[in-house]
Amino acid sequence: MLAIFNAYLITQKPAIPLMDKMNGTKFDFDSDVFQKNDIIISLNSLKVYSSEELEFLCDQREIDDNVLIDIARNGEVVTKNIRLVPYYSTFYLIVMLITGFTFYFTSIFVLLKNQTLKFAFVFHWFGIAAATMILLDYGKIFNNIQFLNFLLRLTFDTATAFTPLLFLHFSLLFPKVKFESFAKYYKIIYLVGALLISITAFYQYQVQTTLLLSDFREYNILHTFHLKMLLAPILLLVIINYAHSYFKTIQEDEKRKLKWIFLGILVGPAVYVFLYSILKILEISSPIVNESFMLSVLIIAPISFFIAIYRYRILDINLIVNKGMVFSIILVVYICIFLILTFLFVPSLEVTINNVSGNSIKPADTSKIAYIIISIFAIFAFEPFKNYVQNYIDMQFFRARYNFKTILNTFLSKIKELPTEQEVVNYFFNSIHRAIPLESMAILQTDRNIKVLKSDNLELNEENLDSIYFFLKSSSFLPLYSSVASTEEELESEEISEDINSLGIQIIVNSIGSPEQPKLTCLIGKKKSDTRFSVEDVELIITLLESTNVALQKIYLQSELILNQEEANRLKELNDLKSYFVSSVSHELKTPLTAIKLYAEVLNSNPKLTDEKKQTYLSIIEGECDRLDRLINNVLGFSKIEKGTKSYRFEFIDLREVIDYIIHTFQYQLKIQNFSLELEVEDGYDYKVYGDRDALKEVLINLISNSIKYSILEKKIIIHLAHDSNLISLSITDFGIGIKEEDLINIFSPFYRSKDKNVSNLGGAGLGLAIVKSILDEHEAEILVESKIGKGTTFKINFPIKNENKNSDC
Ligand code: ADP
Repeated sequence: MLAIFNAYLITQKPAIPLMDKMNGTKFDFDSDVFQKNDIIISLNSLKVYSSEELEFLCDQREIDDNVLIDIARNGEVVTKNIRLVPYYSTFYLIVMLITGFTFYFTSIFVLLKNQTLKFAFVFHWFGIAAATMILLDYGKIFNNIQFLNFLLRLTFDTATAFTPLLFLHFSLLFPKVKFESFAKYYKIIYLVGALLISITAFYQYQVQTTLLLSDFREYNILHTFHLKMLLAPILLLVIINYAHSYFKTIQEDEKRKLKWIFLGILVGPAVYVFLYSILKILEISSPIVNESFMLSVLIIAPISFFIAIYRYRILDINLIVNKGMVFSIILVVYICIFLILTFLFVPSLEVTINNVSGNSIKPADTSKIAYIIISIFAIFAFEPFKNYVQNYIDMQFFRARYNFKTILNTFLSKIKELPTEQEVVNYFFNSIHRAIPLESMAILQTDRNIKVLKSDNLELNEENLDSIYFFLKSSSFLPLYSSVASTEEELESEEISEDINSLGIQIIVNSIGSPEQPKLTCLIGKKKSDTRFSVEDVELIITLLESTNVALQKIYLQSELILNQEEANRLKELNDLKSYFVSSVSHELKTPLTAIKLYAEVLNSNPKLTDEKKQTYLSIIEGECDRLDRLINNVLGFSKIEKGTKSYRFEFIDLREVIDYIIHTFQYQLKIQNFSLELEVEDGYDYKVYGDRDALKEVLINLISNSIKYSILEKKIIIHLAHDSNLISLSITDFGIGIKEEDLINIFSPFYRSKDKNVSNLGGAGLGLAIVKSILDEHEAEILVESKIGKGTTFKINFPIKNENKNSDC
């Protein structure tokens, strides 16, 4: 009711012409009545020092009244008789009513919808206060009813003081409660506000009863404090508070709510305060924009806050903000181009126009024509740039539309041809990025457990992956999950859990595989454009993911086939080896056994044999037994190595001792086979190696018995023991049949025997060198072989030197 009554007073509010465009009491511009830099110093001989005082004096008069004003002009005082005009237009009144009532009704609606929530309560009172502040703007002072004037103006003052306080309070409660410990001081703040208002009430009462300028002056100090000193800093505080929340929060829906609030503040109150009020208060310049415009802009605030509270998903705030920014940039560039062109070409254009028209056009019109031509040129010059910017931005951020079919067809035809998992996954990534530029994305395999195939800008550690897997499994891998604010409303999906959302994941898409098929899961982060995912976007991702899954299945199947083939070949080889092993080992076993049996029989059946013969036969039997022993040792040793059960007992041992021992055991065999064996040892060194005594004996036995076995003509073996700064090397050289080059790389493989006839005639299981190699690997020793066919072979073993003290310390 007060507002409606005040609306009448607004229409009746009188003013000095152009008063609303004054900077304080000064005119910044020329007009019919006033000149630039004119300062009004008094009205009807009453001295005025501020626009408010002038307004107060006018408010007590009627429209069309005549007043005398004194103007300070170039150091002189000029007196003028001025007829008062209406202060506000009808347009202003309409804007005022619409904006004010929008605040009013949204605040009521918010409270009705949410009576229990504190923020709704605070918002309600903020809305009422803001509405009051707008609707009860000072109108004409009603001459007869002083109390009504007092009531109207005091209500306005109260609303002015409380609006910023309530807004600050609201910012501490919505979207999330912040600084809870500060809440208890809020009562004090309201109390201070109330105190301020009581003092104001006292002054206002005085003003309204006396209507004296001197009283108004006192009151105005307080009023200025309310309106001018409180509103701007508190608004700044609110903005800082919201900015802080915005950068702190990781929740997308909270961010969106905050963006709506920002939109409301920046387009509404902030523009009002910083472009209108502050300029007016600090008297920097006359207001840049007029009051009706400001008020009409202010209407954005309640609507935007309302959306933040209730329907923050209704419109794509990111799209609005981002597009708005892009268009502002484009506009600024356009203005720059226009100004440059104006600066460069307007003077010469004016001359040309004058020449062409023969000076028949007025100078003002000439420049108008020049500007029109320039602006047309600017548009043309700007057009290609505009398209370029628009394209670039569209490509990078605002790709709202893409050709679904083309992308899909290209994708489907290409993905089938890609041979590896990596290429398929990369192609999927590139295709998605080309259609919908994304900040982050990952593709996972989620069949029995979770495996990252590729990830871009998503922090996926084991813990995160576990929680994602657990989340998906517990909701049985639905095809689509999304966070509340990330998709268009009509898209139906399961909601993403908050902790997954906090990783920056907005959408999760699962491929629909049969239970045996590996599933693919695609984690999608924000769009670069910061806009929501459209139904089309999500469909594209789902379709591409499904095809990727099929393509991967094909690759896995193919590689499984290849693997199966390889496995079959390996098994066959193993089988061949086994049969070979069985036949060669049984042959190897049989040979010495036959000999032993034969000589034992001879010994048994011929008691008259000479002692010397008996001795020879017994030695042969003993030699064959040794051979059997070696073979059986090798077979058993190898099976231990194969099974991984061969154990070693490492200690520092003297290699020379081991060599001496082995030479000793071979002595008899060497003698009867007419072998000479030389041992060369570089003197002055200690040949201690860190190793297993029995294993090293095995190495020597195998190498020496090979040398004996594979030497047919020249029967000589040289064992050489050398020492350098970090190695002990032992070489065993024979002058036998040698090893073919093509066999050299294989001789250490189990069961490998040269195909050469000379070798196969000699028998053997192909295990000796495999055992040697395995033992030496355990000793961190390397074995090298040098051989020439028909000339002989050298096996060289390099043992690392280890520090005995150090090891024993350990
Ligand atoms: P085996 O002697 O039972 O065949 P090894 O593993 O001891 O098995 O040797 C593998 C192959 O290396 C032999 O078949 C032979 O061709 C070759 N070889 C090993 N030592 C010598 C050597 N001293 N002289 C010539 N060839 C050798």
